[in-house]
Amino acid sequence: MQDEVLVVGGGVAGCAASIALARKGQSVTLIERELTPRHKVCGEFLSGEALEDLHALGIDVASLGAVPLNHVRLAASRHAAEAPLPFPAASLTRKALDTALIAAAVAAGVRVELGRSVQSLCRTANALWQATLADGSTYEAPTAFLSTGKHDLRGHSRPKDPDQWVAFKMYYRLSAAQTADLADASELTLYAGGYGGIQPVEDGIANFCCVVQRRYFARAGLRWEGLLAKMQQDCPHLAMRLDGAMPMLDKPITITHIPYGYLRRDTEDGLYCIGDQAAVIPSFTGDGISIALHTARRGAAAYLAGEPAPVFQPKLRSAMLPQMHLAEIAANGLNNPVARAVLPFCLRVWPGAMRVTARLTRVTQPAAIAPQAVAG
Ligand SMILES: Cc1cc2nc3c(=O)[nH]c(=O)nc-3n(C[C@H](O)[C@H](O)[C@H](O)COP(=O)(O)OP(=O)(O)OC[C@H]3O[C@@H](n4cnc5c(N)ncnc54)[C@H](O)[C@@H]3O)c2cc1C
Repeated sequence: MQDEVLVVGGGVAGCAASIALARKGQSVTLIERELTPRHKVCGEFLSGEALEDLHALGIDVASLGAVPLNHVRLAASRHAAEAPLPFPAASLTRKALDTALIAAAVAAGVRVELGRSVQSLCRTANALWQATLADGSTYEAPTAFLSTGKHDLRGHSRPKDPDQWVAFKMYYRLSAAQTADLADASELTLYAGGYGGIQPVEDGIANFCCVVQRRYFARAGLRWEGLLAKMQQDCPHLAMRLDGAMPMLDKPITITHIPYGYLRRDTEDGLYCIGDQAAVIPSFTGDGISIALHTARRGAAAYLAGEPAPVFQPKLRSAMLPQMHLAEIAANGLNNPVARAVLPFCLRVWPGAMRVTARLTRVTQPAAIAPQAVAG
């Protein structure tokens, strides 16, 4: 089967690119391995840029139950400080968001193939990109978008993560007192071996998502219960927040080997890499979804403008390099015990620090490819 564009991976980036391309009259096939969207390891924080891009794609997050967030709180050890968020933000479960994105892709005329796992993506002798599925069936197109997120396809692997990060997500129903105290805040808790974010999502539930180094997890006995106890010991504020909380999943969802700081240098002719396959920003920035949407929009615009993928990819890299560097520096700061100890104090005496950090670690929106330029 041959279309103009083949998109492999139907998460945030894959759906966004498919919608943008289909709206401009391209015939697009999107292949997604899950039959229906599932919970994913994600803090589910939607930044102002992400909200703008989603709006341009026709996704009304408020109608999906997104919770507006107005504050950020930083907690290390026994200290916590709060500042207003310097931009509008919200939280929404990935299950709800991904479901809405798939529906929007179908509505835009994208041929969506769900429950189909791509095993390999190779260039054929007649210069087509060919995706081969587990059952041996194939899809071909002159152009492909690679958007498999955290999952690497054979032959398109990203470098291994040297720090060996492990991430977990668990939903909780907090006690009434803690729900009221958390209120409309996204709360970052810091430990010796990583950090975690807790924030309200729809239906009165809170998302707790944490990222820790494997050696910290090993010191906790390589078990979730041990890790949770260790994080609460290191950060009593988290212990207070989870006091009386009821877990809403049988066990946390987890992923390993997250190549934080990765920025793809180059690509082959006809293969545009977007989302986590283009760049992986440290999770505490809450900017991965925004980057997925941004790179999808830029990739679609480049393809429509006839910009070859090997020109697009290094240009995208150069544009994102400053924010990625700053986010990495800030992430190293969170790993530093002295910085960790003084951060809540800094936030209390200088709430503007939040605005500055947020501005520096956010993706910029070049006017030429503002959301409405492609998605409208
Ligand atoms: C711990 C953690 C917390 C985070 N918290 C936040 C946050 O609060 N806010 C934020 O903005 N970002 C956050 N992020 C980042 C964000 O989740 C990602 O950057 C974003 O989801 C990337 O979008 P994507 O489209 O590239 O990948 P995804 O949204 O993961 O989509 C990839 C899709 O490809 C499919 N796929 C994979 N392999 C195949 C295959 N072989 N064949 C077919 N389909 C396939 C998958 O099923 C999936 O649906 C967090 C990340 C981590 C690790």
